[in-house]
Amino acid sequence: MEFFGAQGFHEAAGEVEGVQREDAAGLRVQPVERAGGAGFGHGEEAEAVGAQEEVWGEDEGAGRHGGRVAWIARGKKAGWDGRCDWTPKLGETGWTWLNAIGRIRCRGSRLHRTTLNDWGKTVLLNETQMAIQDSIRDFAQAEIRPNSFAYESAKAYPPDLFARLATMGLMGMTAPEEAGGAGADYVSYALALIELAAADGALSTIVSIQNSLLVNGIIAHGSAAQRERFLPALTSGRMIGAFALSEADAGSDAAAIATRAVKVAGGWRLNGSKQFITSGRIAGVAMVFAVTDPAAGKKGISGFLVPTDRPGYLVDKVEHKLGQNASDTCAIRFKDLFIEDEFLFGEEGQGYRLALANLEAGRIGIAAQCIGMAQAALEIAVGYAKERKSMGSFIIEHQAVGFRLADLAARLEGARQLVLHAAAVKDAGRPCLKEASMAKLLASETAEAVCSGAIQTLGGYGYLEEFGLAKIYRDVRVCQIYEGTSDIQRMVIARAL
Ligand SMILES: Cc1cc2nc3c(=O)[nH]c(=O)nc-3n(C[C@H](O)[C@H](O)[C@H](O)COP(=O)(O)OP(=O)(O)OC[C@H]3O[C@@H](n4cnc5c(N)ncnc54)[C@H](O)[C@@H]3O)c2cc1C
Repeated sequence: MEFFGAQGFHEAAGEVEGVQREDAAGLRVQPVERAGGAGFGHGEEAEAVGAQEEVWGEDEGAGRHGGRVAWIARGKKAGWDGRCDWTPKLGETGWTWLNAIGRIRCRGSRLHRTTLNDWGKTVLLNETQMAIQDSIRDFAQAEIRPNSFAYESAKAYPPDLFARLATMGLMGMTAPEEAGGAGADYVSYALALIELAAADGALSTIVSIQNSLLVNGIIAHGSAAQRERFLPALTSGRMIGAFALSEADAGSDAAAIATRAVKVAGGWRLNGSKQFITSGRIAGVAMVFAVTDPAAGKKGISGFLVPTDRPGYLVDKVEHKLGQNASDTCAIRFKDLFIEDEFLFGEEGQGYRLALANLEAGRIGIAAQCIGMAQAALEIAVGYAKERKSMGSFIIEHQAVGFRLADLAARLEGARQLVLHAAAVKDAGRPCLKEASMAKLLASETAEAVCSGAIQTLGGYGYLEEFGLAKIYRDVRVCQIYEGTSDIQRMVIARAL
């Protein structure tokens, strides 16, 4: 699997040699020396300056580079031999392999960096994670964000977009490579979703469900035949997956679902309705939860992987919503839908447990998308406050405005760190339900506050569509509702205290 991005990896001349040094936590590669004046920089002004120190997140030490410098030591950490074999010159476009990381495919190009680059560089990220973050950010800002309004108007994404996301590993981020995935860790996954959401919130919802609920769920609990049948299509973006748990009378109380699967010869017959199903219209497979034994309560619920081209899979309605309109949310009906035994997902009676187990990663995904959307909103507000004048000063110099932005930035950074922490706990293989719920709760509520504060910062212009904040505000609101409302997250956290 490859990650592709518009990240600029520029060569001036000659070979490059890197020297790596890790900090005590072993998480960060620090100074790198270059021989022969080659290297790569972020920004058009990048040029060879000899030995240099990497300074993440600041200009300091970047010398004549037009911003932060990112060194090829990233690759060295992954076993790169110190030779530079990429070919694009500064400002040119071409393909190259960062063979060090192997999975990163880069294009040497002029970059259109924004202040977004200064967010989210923490000492906790390793080199691969930073490379993934940069790749997705560059791609999303260049290719997705400019089209976000058009997607919203069309209420759909171009189908080939998902295949493009897949070439960067985004449709199976944490899935192993043999399953068609990118083999990334959950921190990288969270970073990727942050960047995607900063460009388009609704797209990150589809990608989050695809990864957290479908791909991860099938890898963890699907049969060999199910993995073989569905994973290649899902991880390549040829097929979108839907997660069908909620019903009209069963949202927070998922155990109250009434969709029924009755055992018949060779399989099961499904009848019932699902409500609020993301991608219900465009999905090729739906992970459906239904009652198989009404007398057994939660242990009478089973999961099924239902190909949506089956007779009896009916899209009753595509809902009209406040936001995230490029992603369809559907009322689905199963009318005598027959499904063979081999489509039973996990064991009979284990569906409720599997649905909730999936939501652990799902909530990290939703929390990450909140950070991305809030980050985009804050960036707009900060940029505006530095340009807009009132009463003789830039408005950011008015303490009321500057302090508001400072509060929002601090809250957002706190939420971001919690999201990455939850992802890191998952990477460590430890249970993280509490951390994932805390991250989702804090990130979703912070994100709404950030978007509202950002609108306030722009005054009347914040209320206009063309300034971009209104859309983000609409898109982010649902994050406090789906995959468990804030009240449900509080309930989960309280139980764990
Ligand atoms: C855009 C969108 C996309 C969605 N996508 C999907 C999807 O792909 N798949 C899927 O299965 N579902 C999906 N959902 C459904 C979503 O998960 C539910 O809407 C959510 O779980 C809440 O359920 P509900 O709407 O039935 O509200 P209810 O459960 O009826 O809750 C109503 C209110 O009561 C509160 N409440 C309920 N019970 C308690 C309690 N015990 N303690 C305290 N407060 C409580 C809630 O917090 C909420 O404020 C989506 C929803 C939306 C809006």
